Amino acid sequence: MSVDAPMTVAYDRSNVFARILRGELPCKKVHEDEFSLAFHDIAPLAPVHVLVIPKGEYVSQADFGAKAPPEMIVGFWRAVSKVAHDLGLDPEGYRIVANHGPNGGQLVFHFHVHIFGGRTMSHAMGSMPKPDDAG
Ligand code: AMP
Repeated sequence: MSVDAPMTVAYDRSNVFARILRGELPCKKVHEDEFSLAFHDIAPLAPVHVLVIPKGEYVSQADFGAKAPPEMIVGFWRAVSKVAHDLGLDPEGYRIVANHGPNGGQLVFHFHVHIFGGRTMSHAMGSMPKPDDAG
């Protein structure tokens, strides 16, 4: 299935994750492969809060789905699963979130997936976990 490129903002190469990918800013890396980089969020909202980003200029989830080559899409999502597994989150479970655009609360316009784990998340959908959210 081909998907038309969505209407979206242009990719800004000065965004913070682009700078991390170029090595201009540090990160607490947990995983890297040819498709992805994963690192700890600078302001964690859960005991485990890791971001996984693709190695490419994709503004959002929709942009990634429309423009990334299939091997990149597969490699990226496998990396998300591997990171969660390697962090020991599989037995207890975890939450993944991708914020999309202003209404989704996206702040950094380089596609990324949040992995939250280490405690029970609130069941409420539509919100990011809160730091004191005990479920
Ligand atoms: P979002 O609202 O989905 O765009 O979330 C962006 C996330 O990036 C937030 O959770 C920030 O805490 C995180 N963040 C911003 N700058 C950095 C950085 N330099 N290193 C790690 N995480 C960052």
